[in-house]
Amino acid sequence: MYKKSKELFAEAGEVIPGGVNSPVRAFKSLTHQPLFIEKGEGSRVYDADGNTYLDYVGSWGPLILGHAHPRIVKTISETAAKGTSFGAPTALETEMARLVVEAVPSLELVRMVNSGTEAVMSALRVARGYTKRNKVIKFIGCYHGHCDSFLIRAGSGAAALGYPDSPGVTKGTARDTIALPFNDLKAVQETFAAYGNEIAAVVIEPVAGNMGLVTPQNGYLAGLREVTRASGALLIFDEVMTGFRVAHGGAQEYYNIDPDLTALGKIIGGGLPVGAYGGKREIMEQVAPVGPVYQAGTLSGNPLAMAVGIETLKMLKEPGFYAELAEKCRVLVSGIAAAAEKQGVSIQAHGIGSMFGIFFNAHPVTDFESACRSDLESFKVFFRALLKEGIYMAPSAFESGFISAVHSKRDLEDTAAATEKAFAAVQRAREEKQTAGKLIS
Ligand SMILES: *Cc1c(COP(=O)(O)O)cnc(C)c1O
Repeated sequence: MYKKSKELFAEAGEVIPGGVNSPVRAFKSLTHQPLFIEKGEGSRVYDADGNTYLDYVGSWGPLILGHAHPRIVKTISETAAKGTSFGAPTALETEMARLVVEAVPSLELVRMVNSGTEAVMSALRVARGYTKRNKVIKFIGCYHGHCDSFLIRAGSGAAALGYPDSPGVTKGTARDTIALPFNDLKAVQETFAAYGNEIAAVVIEPVAGNMGLVTPQNGYLAGLREVTRASGALLIFDEVMTGFRVAHGGAQEYYNIDPDLTALGKIIGGGLPVGAYGGKREIMEQVAPVGPVYQAGTLSGNPLAMAVGIETLKMLKEPGFYAELAEKCRVLVSGIAAAAEKQGVSIQAHGIGSMFGIFFNAHPVTDFESACRSDLESFKVFFRALLKEGIYMAPSAFESGFISAVHSKRDLEDTAAATEKAFAAVQRAREEKQTAGKLIS
């Protein structure tokens, strides 16, 4: 069934570390062969062995309009014909910046970069330059890209592989990063009481999407806003995943919080490599060439990425776009929850905007620790069973799923029906394990 993918993976391993250009693609925590994708179209992807899947990975978030949207394909070819990069300003950059600033409530100035990693890394540098302080608070299980300062208890790919800290990150860097549990405001207040005047910023995924999907509890984000403001530290929202995803204006609009700096990525590039960071004018004017904080990029703001970003953001402005998407997500999440209940499998099913996630866990999941108490074996069985049913979910228990505007009602019903079979497989695997246990003892 996966013969060609297997061959391609073996070949890739000869010249690429682990055969992949980003670790989670290797399916390492799953004891399953990664799929080599040949093409995508709308809500579906097609692998090298000729299998078709309904796709809920969406390139890990960017593809809110689905694969190969005709308007995006047209934009790419028209723009490419005029040249792909000049290293000089273009009007497209202003148009793109304007669309982003208009949509995301706290932004006054925004700078384009090429990835989410770059965006968060640069926002932190600005925060340090502005406050003249060094330390940063992050939250355990939140992922902010692979920059050194944030590779401390970082969830996502690192969580699945079981190396939350990475060799190559120096002790000095690690010393300036304080990692606290998500959803624990008291821990933040106590840390500020101890080191308040050394803390440059609190960085958070306002909705955590890289430890599975975990939402902030009532008052948590507002509490972070209050404690940072009181101490002169900046609040940085990493909305690389949640921006233009949980609402048009991101999580800051959804929860009505006013962060100082915001990092964006994923959706704003419409499938091309783009990131952005921005915030209050006074703070962003620290950035060169206006201010002394250096940050640059040869391909930053290149016309191809900007044109695709602009076309994407224009489509997201259509009235009712987010309401319809959220309704689809509600239908899917409640369908999955009902399927699990019918098969007698306890899960926690979460959804917000067009993001969703489930935990094989009988108890509420509010942070990384509770996420880790989920049944990872059952996730593997579930994932494999869904793949057989033609459903492609994120290949890790610590990732979120994404719905696109081109997932049809029929797609979602088919998916819910497929999950019922997958939950049945989970239940069977649990029973077999129990029987085997009894035979041994
Ligand atoms: C994906 C992600 C990043 C990193 O973005 P890249 O484009 O992969 O560098 C940073 N923060 C969050 C919240 C993300 O989900």
